[in-house]
Amino acid sequence: MNINQKNYSLGTARSVIREIFEYGNRRALEVGRENVYDFSLGNPSVAAPESVDKTIAELVKNDTCALHSYTSAQGAPSTRKAISDSINERFGETSTPDDIYITCGAAASLTITLHAICNNGDKVIAFAPFFPEYKVFAEGAGAEFCIVPPAGDFQIDFDALEKTIDKNTKAVIINSPNNPSGAVLTEQTIIRLAAVLKQKSEQYGHPVYLISDEPYRELVYDDSVKVPYITRYYDNTFVCYSYSKSLSLPGERIGYIFVCNRMENSNACYAAVCGAGRMLGFVCAPSLMQKVIEKNPTAVSDISVYKKNRDILYNALTEYGYDCIHPDGAFYLFVKSPIADAKAFCELAKKYDLLLVPSDSFGCEGYIRISYCVSTDMINRSLPLFEKLIKEI
Ligand code: PLP
Repeated sequence: MNINQKNYSLGTARSVIREIFEYGNRRALEVGRENVYDFSLGNPSVAAPESVDKTIAELVKNDTCALHSYTSAQGAPSTRKAISDSINERFGETSTPDDIYITCGAAASLTITLHAICNNGDKVIAFAPFFPEYKVFAEGAGAEFCIVPPAGDFQIDFDALEKTIDKNTKAVIINSPNNPSGAVLTEQTIIRLAAVLKQKSEQYGHPVYLISDEPYRELVYDDSVKVPYITRYYDNTFVCYSYSKSLSLPGERIGYIFVCNRMENSNACYAAVCGAGRMLGFVCAPSLMQKVIEKNPTAVSDISVYKKNRDILYNALTEYGYDCIHPDGAFYLFVKSPIADAKAFCELAKKYDLLLVPSDSFGCEGYIRISYCVSTDMINRSLPLFEKLIKEI
C-alpha cells in the first residue's frame, strides 16, 4: 500500500485500554451493565461545574454567528488574558497573553510543544510509569523516546536519569499528579530535577526543556499535598495544560500551552509553538469553549466524589492484602499485581467481571491500574469481588 506505513501501524494497533472497554460493552449485553465493573477508562464521572453549563446556555442566547467564528490562530486575546491572569494570581507568575497558546486539550499541547522543539534525532525522556501516548507524540515529532525506570516511591530515580540523559536530550516530560500512579512530585523532587536539568543544559550548551503535562493539576485530595508550579523552579518549561479533567470536559477539547517567558529565546520558542500548531492544523481551538474558559478561568468540578472513591477503594483493597500506591492525586489507583504477570492477573479478574488495566503499556510491568472515576455505588458493589479475587490467589 502506498500510504504512510508508520501511521497505518498506529491506526491499526490495538489499544489495551480500548479493548478492555469494548469487552466490557459486550459483557454488559450478556450479564447486564450493573454487573460489569469497568475500571478501565479515565473519563471524568462528575459533571462539569454548574457555572460552565450556565455560561454555555447564556452564550448561545446571544450572537451565535460571532460566537462560533474563528479566533486568532493561537486563541482569542481576551481568553489568553484570562488564562494568563489566572496563572499569575494562583502561582505568582508574570505571564502575558502572548505566552499562552490555546489548544485542543493536553494531547494537542504536547504534540505542538514536541514539534516546536524537536529535530530528527533528538531524545525525549519520560519517567515510567507514563501516559502511553507520549511515545507516539515524541516519535511523531521525530524524536527518540527514552524511558527512565520508576523510582520505588514513584518520585524520580535520579541515578537512572543521569544514565539516560545525554547531549541529544531535548526535553524531559513530567506528569504530576500522575496517570497511572496517582503520585504527586514533591517540591524537593522538583528542586532536584531543576538542578540536574540546569547543570546538563550548561554542560551540553543548549537548554534541556521541561514539559509539564498537567491535566490533573487540580485533582488532589488532601490539603497537605501541594503540586509545585514548575516554572517557579525551572525557566525552560512548557506547561501543557488541559481542562479535560478539572472541568470534566474531555470531549470538548480545550487546554493551553504556557511558554514560560523567562525561557531562553522565549519569543522564538513561542513562535515555534505557533508554527507547530499551524503545521499540525491545531489552530483556533473551539471558540465556544474558549469563551467558557474566559468566563470560568478558575472553576473546578466537584472532586469530592473522587476523594471518597479513592478512600473507599484504597482502604478496602489494602485491608484485603493488595499492595497499593497511595494516590495523592489524579483518579487512578496503582496496585502491585498479586502475581508477577499483571496481564494474567487482569484476565483472572475478568472472571469476576472486574475490568482492570495491566501496567505494561505505561512502561512499568507488574502493576494494575484501577480508574476510580466511576460511581461510588459501583465501587462499593465491587469490593467483595476484589476480596474474592485475592483470596483465590
Ligand atoms: N496526559 C495525560 C497524563 C493523560 O492522562 C491524558 C488523558 O487522559 C492526556 C494527557 C490527554 O488529555 P486530553 O484529553 O486533554 O488531550
